[in-house]
Amino acid sequence: MIGVPLAGSVALVTGASSGIGEATAQALSDQGAAVAIVARRAERLRALAERIEDRGGTALAVPADVSSQPAAQSAVERAVSELGRLDILVNNAGVMLLGPAIAAPLHDWQRMLDVNVAGLLWCAHAALPHLLSAAQGSPRAVADMVNVSSVAGRTTRPGSNVYNLTKHGVGAFSESLRQEVTGRSVRISLVEPGAVDTELRTHNRPEIQAQMARRFADVELLAAGDITRPRHVSINEVLVRPTDQAD
Ligand code: NDP
Repeated sequence: MIGVPLAGSVALVTGASSGIGEATAQALSDQGAAVAIVARRAERLRALAERIEDRGGTALAVPADVSSQPAAQSAVERAVSELGRLDILVNNAGVMLLGPAIAAPLHDWQRMLDVNVAGLLWCAHAALPHLLSAAQGSPRAVADMVNVSSVAGRTTRPGSNVYNLTKHGVGAFSESLRQEVTGRSVRISLVEPGAVDTELRTHNRPEIQAQMARRFADVELLAAGDITRPRHVSINEVLVRPTDQAD
């Protein structure tokens, strides 16, 4: 990967126990960052931390439910106190629970609001002061927040209603925040993947999973690509789909 190496930088990746977050944490470590890896499944985080350390990296497993504001805040503070600083936040944790709005299980809607919206906000709020200060004192002279949205943050489909709402919200929040902090050397990037083969769809009810199309892009390590740009370049938004995904 072409870009500025991340040695001396500290990254926190949420949703790092599987899928895109796990691959992104590994990619940031390969670029030289120390990584705090956050999700609820502690065992998965420990296994990833071991793999990263076996490859010569530094990883701190921080089990936390980001939908709880105190837990999200503590996860960020623990990363800063144990790894020394925070230069990069990858706000990736998310759930996608699809199906018609009529008679939808309300707990599915609540879960998407709690993780995709509230969890992302709690982590962003806790991390921002550290990112602002890291931007002033780092060799890269810049700090980064990458918010993982989706194609569903740009378009809508029947059955994707509340997931669409949460991801459109992530896009709006990211762009407003970008305008607020870009003058202080904190870059805000929005990554919008198309279908990627992860555990995401497996959390849906069986009848919904049966209707879901099976076409996937490889897990893209886009966050690492955004972050390793030189200070004067900001990749504000990246939309990537598998070639066969038209919509
Ligand atoms: P996965 O289901 O593989 O990963 C989701 C991650 O989020 C897991 O590590 C999970 O860990 C974590 N997570 C879920 N709830 C919480 C919580 N309350 N607190 C902390 N962590 C939580 O899916 P993906 O890797 O595909 O998804 C990552 C992101 O990419 C999501 O935001 C998703 O919306 C987005 N995306 C994915 C696409 C795809 O096709 N896969 C397409 C477009 C966007 P744990 O269960 O251990 O807490």
